[in-house]
Amino acid sequence: MTTRELPPVSELTEQQQRGWSCIWCRTALTVGEDRDLGEKRARPEGGAAYSWFPRACSDAAACAAREAEQAL
Ligand SMILES: [Zn+2]
Repeated sequence: MTTRELPPVSELTEQQQRGWSCIWCRTALTVGEDRDLGEKRARPEGGAAYSWFPRACSDAAACAAREAEQAL
């Protein structure tokens, strides 16, 4: 499985930064149907570094399809 590069944390919603919504398609996630991408560190310009916990849909194909729909 290829690892996709995460979107910049500054462009994500609070729900996405907290792991409540998929970082790519923004769908609300439920336990068991999501993929934990591990703790990430963000260092905003001029700010203090902090941890965030990106999560994504477990179904990558469905996720990509939803993401493509939103990009239209
Ligand atoms: Zn998704």
